[in-house]
Amino acid sequence: MPTYRIVTLPGDGIGPEIMDEAKKLLAAIGSKTGTTFACEDQLIGGAAIDATRAAGEPVSALPPATLEAAQSADAVLLASVGGPKWDDPTPGAVRPEAGLLGIRKSLQLYLNLRPVRLWNALIGASTLKPEVLEGVDVLIVRELTGGLYFGVHERKADVAGAGVGGAAGQTAVDSMEYAEYEIDRVVRWAFEAAGRRRGRVCSVDKANVLETSRLWREVAARVAADFPEVEASNMYVDNAAMQLVYNPAQFDVLVTENTFGDILSDEASMLTGSLGMLASASLGDGTALYEPSHGSAPDIAGKGIANPIAQLLSVELMLRYSFQMDEAADQLAAAIGSVLDAGWRTADIADDSTPADHILGTSAMGDKVVEAYLAQ
Ligand code: NAD
Repeated sequence: MPTYRIVTLPGDGIGPEIMDEAKKLLAAIGSKTGTTFACEDQLIGGAAIDATRAAGEPVSALPPATLEAAQSADAVLLASVGGPKWDDPTPGAVRPEAGLLGIRKSLQLYLNLRPVRLWNALIGASTLKPEVLEGVDVLIVRELTGGLYFGVHERKADVAGAGVGGAAGQTAVDSMEYAEYEIDRVVRWAFEAAGRRRGRVCSVDKANVLETSRLWREVAARVAADFPEVEASNMYVDNAAMQLVYNPAQFDVLVTENTFGDILSDEASMLTGSLGMLASASLGDGTALYEPSHGSAPDIAGKGIANPIAQLLSVELMLRYSFQMDEAADQLAAAIGSVLDAGWRTADIADDSTPADHILGTSAMGDKVVEAYLAQ
């Protein structure tokens, strides 16, 4: 019987509430598949700041015990961090987000996945017309550790003529750099994923202008040759931004570098119109990290009304990409679809047509999904 060790990081705000639902679901999946998911709670974010301060330890949003557990786990499941309680403007104050950045960095996660799929029952929640959204199911694969965000950032001192109207002024530089291996591992992952999906990869770049993009395109072509069964295409990023709202259903897997991916994945996430329904995964060579795309929603924390579905979809990603349990993942996705099709909603995804007795709290929604999963 396979056993997987999962470090669970409930964090702050609604985090602990939605994490409870994920654990409930994992127990159900375990019992149905004969798998043991051993969940181990660790501290991160504001909760870690409070706990380390109370214990008289060095104040930290990512205590060493959390990091050690995460590094040796089979997967990390995070809920959310942050909240007004820890919004300390004092320079040098430890902030909850430091925990998030710290864990991503130390797990050396170089690839981020953001699946964007249409839930038929929620089609009205998007700002786009239903006919444009028909069939949308895009997996955005974003490179996470290279490019502009990790290049040299510098300011050059005043030089004559760089200012306004010929005056002296500063110049700022952000450099963009990519090594072949950084491109290869991300694009290769995208092709492998496409082989298990609808078999299409679109690599997005700006090869008509940028040298990094020209290298990206060369490497992408080499990788594509290793996957003759996958249909490969290239698209300039400006066109991709337009196509994502014009004809999003054309995409299966879309792979791109860090900055383009940051922007395109946020654009694409809004196709479905609902923050409470979006999960993401960050992968590297070691332990992977799964989390909802939303934050800690302090405005509704403790009320038992948060939507747990993005957290449950993070579990779906974990099953697929850390444990190769595609069948259970498919069943879970189908279960969530069937709960929505039956009209069940949390408050954030309800509308005027939702009967009051179909608006569920966090725990009741978790129960519905578990019940539907077990019935698959
Ligand atoms: P947010 O995502 O927490 O909330 C935005 C809005 O969406 C709020 O009205 C909230 O109630 C709602 N919302 C979010 N998730 C929901 C859910 N599951 N169910 C129902 N409604 C939901 O973003 P914010 O308000 O900008 O940030 C709040 C805190 O979260 C800040 O401290 C921020 O730094 C932090 N944050 C953390 C993460 C993370 O942990 N990865 C990401 C973004 C923001």
